[in-house]
Amino acid sequence: MSSNNSTIELIKDRIDIVDIISEYVALKKNGNNYWGLCPFHNEKTPSFSVNRDKGIFKCFGCGAAGDAITFLMKINNQSFLEVMQELAFKFGIEFKLDGKSSSINETKKQMLEANKLTAKFYMDYLQKQDKALKYLEGRQIKPETIEEFWLGFSPKGYDDLYNYLVKDKGFKAELLEQAGLISQKSDGKGYIDKFRNRIIIPILDDKGNVVAFGGRIFEDENGPKYLNSKETQVYNKSKTLYGLYQAKEAIKEKDYAVIMEGYFDVITAQDNGIKNAVASCGTSLTLQHVRLLGKYTENKRIYLAFDADLAGQNAINRGAELVKEEFAALGDVKQFDTSFANLNIKDDYACEIRVVSTFSGKDPDEFIKENGGEAYLSCIEKAPLLLDYQIQRVMSIDTKKITPQEKAKIAKELAPILAQINNRIIFEEYIGKIALELKLDKNSLYQEINTFKRSGFQPKKSEIKKLTNVTISSKKEIMYQKNLLSLYFINEDKIPFAWLNEKLKETKFYDSNLIAIKQAIEEFSSNEITVNDLIDKLMLHFSQNDDVKKDLADIIYSIEDKIPLIDSGLVEEFINENIKKLKRHEFSLIEKDLITKQESDENLAKEYQQKLKEYLEAR
Ligand SMILES: [Zn+2]
Repeated sequence: MSSNNSTIELIKDRIDIVDIISEYVALKKNGNNYWGLCPFHNEKTPSFSVNRDKGIFKCFGCGAAGDAITFLMKINNQSFLEVMQELAFKFGIEFKLDGKSSSINETKKQMLEANKLTAKFYMDYLQKQDKALKYLEGRQIKPETIEEFWLGFSPKGYDDLYNYLVKDKGFKAELLEQAGLISQKSDGKGYIDKFRNRIIIPILDDKGNVVAFGGRIFEDENGPKYLNSKETQVYNKSKTLYGLYQAKEAIKEKDYAVIMEGYFDVITAQDNGIKNAVASCGTSLTLQHVRLLGKYTENKRIYLAFDADLAGQNAINRGAELVKEEFAALGDVKQFDTSFANLNIKDDYACEIRVVSTFSGKDPDEFIKENGGEAYLSCIEKAPLLLDYQIQRVMSIDTKKITPQEKAKIAKELAPILAQINNRIIFEEYIGKIALELKLDKNSLYQEINTFKRSGFQPKKSEIKKLTNVTISSKKEIMYQKNLLSLYFINEDKIPFAWLNEKLKETKFYDSNLIAIKQAIEEFSSNEITVNDLIDKLMLHFSQNDDVKKDLADIIYSIEDKIPLIDSGLVEEFINENIKKLKRHEFSLIEKDLITKQESDENLAKEYQQKLKEYLEAR
């Protein structure tokens, strides 16, 4: 095997197809597979499926199928080698083409190296700055937290970092400028450091690389309170969440993420036991942020912990809309809390959105400093679902002294919130509760909601379609061949490869892709391997042939409806049936041939007729 091939194998080993596709499509687990909206065709209900164990995907709508590499090539419109280069970079694997690394990878690598050295440079400098250390101490940040978050301080001078990186470490100034660490002087002669006299907050990606910096103003310096790195080849703001590297294990474990507003909210929260806190980096929340979190929380549980002010309220609404937008196609938003009433409703939702608010309206950083982590944790535990939060906000008046005008206003404000509830039982529960509290006739609430709905609002509703495993194929003989090949992927113990090889030895295949697959299977299955190993080997073997990979994924996806064959002992019958049908196809081909030949040559026709007779007798 060539060295390139073994590198490809190394990269393929590191691939988790769910992880990769989750960066582009919101996926939800259902049975053995993950489901989402197909990115390759327009659809409203998910027919796009991903199988983690087998490393394949398939869309039952448009037929797109293959492995993670096919997916990346298709979605980014990249070549096989481009995809491989990016994956190699992602996994930190050396990938050389004709003995050279790609220049893009080389630049990115150098940028990350420069960022890392910069972070260390600022960290070391902080230790020499008593005032800055005092400041952090005043914010109740412990020395070990400073270390965990790589906090630092940038010197007041104009070129300390420049001198360190260019003169001591030999970096090119152009690269450092590209990386946003220094900028050209206004007269074009020389460079100055970007961050000066600021508390430095390095921003790590989810793999722990330093990709950017935030700098907080210190003392009476001029300029913005926070200065942030520009976007670079290694830093995309809308795809980076502050604190995620430190938080990701806790998010997985607790199955929810708390999104906060600022760097110090996250630092203080994590420092005080709320390990699953993250923040966007000096930008408002994006769909990609939500998607990124969706990778770590299986049940897509997102807690929004924004400020109590108007901007915070808008951020909550916007954040909630993004979460809904990202996961809506996968099912309903959780709209009912078990603490609310003891209703027998299946707890299966596409996502869950909760709003964390502190009774004093303080942001997490301030609140925790005053009341401690335990108190904040209890705010999180009591955090209402988005729907309850929205209702509570509208109803937050003294209902005893309420005037009829106020009642009418509240009912109007509640209408759009209540109209989102899809479940009839939950809907009725809320109506009943609110009517009672406002001393209002239920009918007037219904009326308000109907008026609102008539004004054009359409609640989104969808659920994962129950899809049967249909092999999309216009030709029946293709299906017979795929049926036979699919048996290799069910269970190597229950349907042994050697036995199957023997059974299919004489069977003639017709489609060139399927012939290639059959040959490769025969070759690989001679050794004792598992089904998943066989799939790996095949995908590697056909790594640059998308058509074959598509057929392979199609075949593997079709095994589910064949599993019952094993239990009912009908495998052999199924094989014989499909072989027979394929033979019939062969016969029809001969027949067709015969008719054409007969027309052109009488002797030849006789010869063929004889052959056909023999063939029929032999059957
Ligand atoms: Zn599709």
